[in-house]
Amino acid sequence: MPNNIQAELSHKFTLRIIEIVFTTIVLSLIFRPFFIDLPIYFLLIGIADLFLMTGFYFIVRLNLLPKWEITLSLLIALIIILPTLAISGGVNSQMVYFLPLYPILAALLGGHRESLALTVTLVAGTILATIFSEYIVDLTGGVYSKEMSTARGFWLTISIILSAFFGHFFLQRYTEVTKQLKEENTLDPLTGLLNRRGLNTHFSKELEETEITSSPLSLILIDIDYFKKINDRYGHDVGDICLIEVANVLSSTLRKRDIIARFGGEEFIIILPSTTKNQAALIADDLKNVISKQKFSDFNLPITITLGVTDSRGQHDNALKMIKRADKALYRGKDKGRNCVELSE
Ligand code: GH3
Ligand code: MG
Ligand code: MG
Repeated sequence: MPNNIQAELSHKFTLRIIEIVFTTIVLSLIFRPFFIDLPIYFLLIGIADLFLMTGFYFIVRLNLLPKWEITLSLLIALIIILPTLAISGGVNSQMVYFLPLYPILAALLGGHRESLALTVTLVAGTILATIFSEYIVDLTGGVYSKEMSTARGFWLTISIILSAFFGHFFLQRYTEVTKQLKEENTLDPLTGLLNRRGLNTHFSKELEETEITSSPLSLILIDIDYFKKINDRYGHDVGDICLIEVANVLSSTLRKRDIIARFGGEEFIIILPSTTKNQAALIADDLKNVISKQKFSDFNLPITITLGVTDSRGQHDNALKMIKRADKALYRGKDKGRNCVELSE
């Protein structure tokens, strides 16, 4: 997933979380008085939280601090819960049920690092609150024994750690699935080579590097000769097998750093980093010879390819221009009778 899409999703997710928290505070302010008689402080904290959430909602909505959204969300999450905990009995407070949600929230909003930071903070806080439970005020008027506080502190710590693991595993799975989808999106399902989208990404990276390092970069465009005849005579499935086998031969002949992609039906593009046009012409010649010596599919079909070679020409060049030049050279090769290498002018 490109970074801007990821940022957009995270932004929307933060907005939804704020809306949920806002609603939860409003509902608790409305309904809590019916169940429990709490001192005025709780009402004041609730109202302050509402103001805080409203302000933060607009900060996120208007995209005022995009880089700080996640950190601020987690900080505000703590600001909302901590004062209430501090005046309602610490580990004995009924609000502690919310705490194990925090590591998961941090994993969803931020990532592994944020979740770990929050987990460590909460676990340390819970341990301290358990040790000093006798000294923590409880305006709700609850009375607790030291044993009960210790037991609650213990289970609370376990819940926070468990939820941190859930968040961690969820995130790991999500990252793997996203990576897999990304790969599938950039690969050609028939040959397993990069598709056009994959090529674009790799090609622009290589072009950028070439500009920075001023090293040469070459491109070979390949088109299988008279491929239509194979399809017409032996069927599309045999044509497919030939395409797969040609792709395998080409990629196994190339060096590790070279990039190969299926550009179209029976066309391939090869990007050769740190390679001059003359060196690329030799590689193209090798590829042409290797292919013409092999036999393809169960029908042992001979196949030949025509190749157009070009190189990058500094700042004013780009991927499209390079492909156009190689295409022109390739078609010159086709005109000359195929099974040959042509260099761009
Ligand atoms: P030339 O030497 O001029 O390139 O002749 P050609 O027959 O190879 O060129 P043309 O572009 O006319 O035909 C390309 C053929 O490739 C047409 C299409 O049926 C076939 N083709 C494109 N994609 C696939 C594919 O995925 N599988 C199979 N089997 N054939 C494909
Ligand atoms: Mg073609
Ligand atoms: Mg062809």
